[in-house]
Amino acid sequence: MINTGNHLAFYSTKEWKHIRSEVRKRDNNECQGCKRQGKVFTNKSEPDKRKRLDVDHIKELEDYPELCLSIDNLETLCLRCHNIKHNRYVKKENKWNDEQW
Ligand SMILES: [Zn+2]
Repeated sequence: MINTGNHLAFYSTKEWKHIRSEVRKRDNNECQGCKRQGKVFTNKSEPDKRKRLDVDHIKELEDYPELCLSIDNLETLCLRCHNIKHNRYVKKENKWNDEQW
């Protein structure tokens, strides 16, 4: 039984790493959020691919822990789509300026 209460522990399990690579393969390493908008965002769009393409739980991990390793509940998203989905898009350019005096 996977403990999803501790996210960091969950994301470092070999089960998660395995299903994550399966999802990316299924999605051809393309952001599904961009795809729905008629755009294509692949690893080739961004040199630092590990940072830019994420695998997201369509139904949140907290709400549906039983779907944590269900491939139907997973999709590939770029960092931007992922942040928009979770409403946590932060303008990184401004972040440092705000913290400087
Ligand atoms: Zn995207």
